[in-house]
Amino acid sequence: MLLNILSWIAIVVLSVSYWFQIWKIHVHKEVRDISLTYNILLALGFGTLTFTAIEEGSLIFLVKQIMTTIPVIIIIIQVIYHKNDKWHDPALARCSKCKEELERRWSFCPSCGEKRSK
Ligand SMILES: [Zn+2]
Repeated sequence: MLLNILSWIAIVVLSVSYWFQIWKIHVHKEVRDISLTYNILLALGFGTLTFTAIEEGSLIFLVKQIMTTIPVIIIIIQVIYHKNDKWHDPALARCSKCKEELERRWSFCPSCGEKRSK
């Protein structure tokens, strides 16, 4: 019984963890560091096991698979949608030559090699 309750809590925790990732992408619109392959493989694995859960008639297994497959699919859509978007920090300085953003610790522009002007 206790294990049953803990298992349902675990499903909610697992699902919510993906929604935190979705929210982060939604706010920053930056997907450069998120692996599309990783998420596609997760979706394939979770998606396939959903059918295994139906086959086995396990409600908790089925709900777990659905609750994790859906957010992973949303992440995949976000990664594709925001592929060309970049996170902009208006406080950052810009390169005097090519106007790309320069992070605080950079002495040279990574795009054109121009030395940072003080
Ligand atoms: Zn530059």
